[in-house]
Amino acid sequence: MVIEFKKVVEHSMFSAKTNLKEEVPPIEFRTDPLTGDMGIVLGDRWRQLKKPDLSQLIAKSLERECPFCPEAIDRITPQFPAEFLPEGRIKVGEAVVFPNARPYMSHSAVAVLSRQHFVDLPQFTEDMLVNGFLASQIYLREVQKYDPEAKYCLVNCNYMPYAGSSQIHPHFQVLAGHFPLRYHKELLEASQRYYAKNGVNYWLDFIAKERELNERYIGTVGDTLWFTSFVPRSWQFDVLTVFQGKESFTALSQRDIEDLCQGLKKVFGYMSDQNFYSFNLCLYSGILGKDYFWTQVRLIQRGTYPPLDVSDCSSVRLLFDTMVILKRPEVVCQELKAYFG
Ligand SMILES: [Zn+2]
Repeated sequence: MVIEFKKVVEHSMFSAKTNLKEEVPPIEFRTDPLTGDMGIVLGDRWRQLKKPDLSQLIAKSLERECPFCPEAIDRITPQFPAEFLPEGRIKVGEAVVFPNARPYMSHSAVAVLSRQHFVDLPQFTEDMLVNGFLASQIYLREVQKYDPEAKYCLVNCNYMPYAGSSQIHPHFQVLAGHFPLRYHKELLEASQRYYAKNGVNYWLDFIAKERELNERYIGTVGDTLWFTSFVPRSWQFDVLTVFQGKESFTALSQRDIEDLCQGLKKVFGYMSDQNFYSFNLCLYSGILGKDYFWTQVRLIQRGTYPPLDVSDCSSVRLLFDTMVILKRPEVVCQELKAYFG
């Protein structure tokens, strides 16, 4: 096992009016052992957030008709062509999947999760999430039959405008393409390189190493294992779920998806107690028959910071391609463990 969670600590200096030298916090640089993602831990500068009053935002979102609400969805949203799906749309419980009118991969769909326009984090039910993922899976299985070369699959969720969503109404983006997007490509290729070099699946070693260290391992639900990320992609919160031994999202059982959603409910409980109100989630699928990568889900918190509604994305993140970490994932892990029992 050759996984190393690399940390380098450096010190900056300044001249202060008072003798603060000892109090200057060290700067900790972290490098992800697989992807090389770099992050800077800026001391422990996290803040307890206040949940904003979302009522105005929700009211504003209803000034124009919401295309995902039950009275509009059948009338406004497009349907799949009959040669792809004779029924036009996929329905599982309240979840509905239809083509994305503004596609950004060769197969792009939207999965609306529920009839309810605004779903607050604690209001997400396991059923809502399970139905959304099951409907997404049905769509991607149809894509595999129709266009087998479109094997790079993602399920993405931008929850609330703070996370880049143009709709309040909760939904997933379900995507498949003939080549992977940049970060997905990095995950797949780095995992493949590790397999070629070490003759073993990186994620098998990763799970063993994280469990041994017991610093970021939160817990297990069925065959899903939950961790806080060593190099978080968000200032305060980044959780990774790995489907142990599962290559492709399209091959997951209903039980696997229920395990994921049970875990997500626990994570949402924590997030709600932390006054988090917005997130990005991405499910990165591996490829059937390629045992160097296991399907996984990553979830990060999004939102602005007091007192000036500061954006959580600055030059460091967007132009240096380096993560800023205000809350140590090891601390978040300890807090989350209580929610996993
Ligand atoms: Zn709506």
